Amino acid sequence: MAEVGKPFNCPICLELAYKPVVQGCGHMFCFWCVHRSMNTTTVSHCPVCQKSYVHLPRISSQLHLLLQVVHPREYSARAVEVAAEERDQNLFSPVMDPPSPSSSSVHNPNPKAILTCKVCKNLLFKPVALNCGHLMCQSCAAAGPSNACVLCGVHHPGPFPNVCIDLNQYMEKELGSSYAHRSKEVGKKNSVATWKFAHAEDGSTLNSQIHPSVGCDSCGMMPILGRRYHCLDCPETCGYDLCQSCHERGSTLPGRFNQQHTARHRMEERSLRSPWIFVWSW
Ligand SMILES: [Zn+2]
Ligand SMILES: [Zn+2]
Ligand SMILES: [Zn+2]
Ligand SMILES: [Zn+2]
Ligand SMILES: [Zn+2]
Ligand SMILES: [Zn+2]
Repeated sequence: MAEVGKPFNCPICLELAYKPVVQGCGHMFCFWCVHRSMNTTTVSHCPVCQKSYVHLPRISSQLHLLLQVVHPREYSARAVEVAAEERDQNLFSPVMDPPSPSSSSVHNPNPKAILTCKVCKNLLFKPVALNCGHLMCQSCAAAGPSNACVLCGVHHPGPFPNVCIDLNQYMEKELGSSYAHRSKEVGKKNSVATWKFAHAEDGSTLNSQIHPSVGCDSCGMMPILGRRYHCLDCPETCGYDLCQSCHERGSTLPGRFNQQHTARHRMEERSLRSPWIFVWSW
């Protein structure tokens, strides 16, 4: 696979990653690049390290904000480009909150202010991204509940995530002394950061019930393995589906493609033989 060029370039399209998602292996891609490269009938593999996965992670809003500040012109050019593609295909990526007007990052771009860990309130150290899109220090994630995000409580499928490689390199290089200081602070109390009772689901859960080309709009599992529930009320052409565990948890998260799903919508189980199975167009 191609050498990863500039930090924050997507290894798939080789451009600046737009609406970045970080896989459990620590590699970072554009939202659409991951989605398009996923295998729709079986387990997918990271194009850089070949690690297997079945979930499309949510976009990291902190990385989205960071890239706007670090590469403002390039990032807004990418936004224009992607918005045009989305209109053509009538399929939309999640809308990200614009930085609030009071946020200092708009007028006083300071990457360090953006890269605060929302758990310990310090500068991120060895940042990991969970499936929910939240970033935190590796040690903060490890101190939280196994297979879940300590910030939002959302389930994290798969093993403990690896450090986000691009972001860690960027921080080492650009935030030198502050980052080294955090290294000393965290290093002392936490040498091996991981979950004690993590379940590794990725790849090992493939069973006879596979719903080809259908993804779970809550956890991002694609294809859905096991039972599948489909929304009867979401009007968007991409539909809205949940896997069994997200359906049982009563997920109220927004859809992966900006569907305006609510808890009042009716969900119906769809069997594999249903003629209504929606097929994503790629
Ligand atoms: Zn890309
Ligand atoms: Zn990887
Ligand atoms: Zn932290
Ligand atoms: Zn979270
Ligand atoms: Zn799910
Ligand atoms: Zn719905």
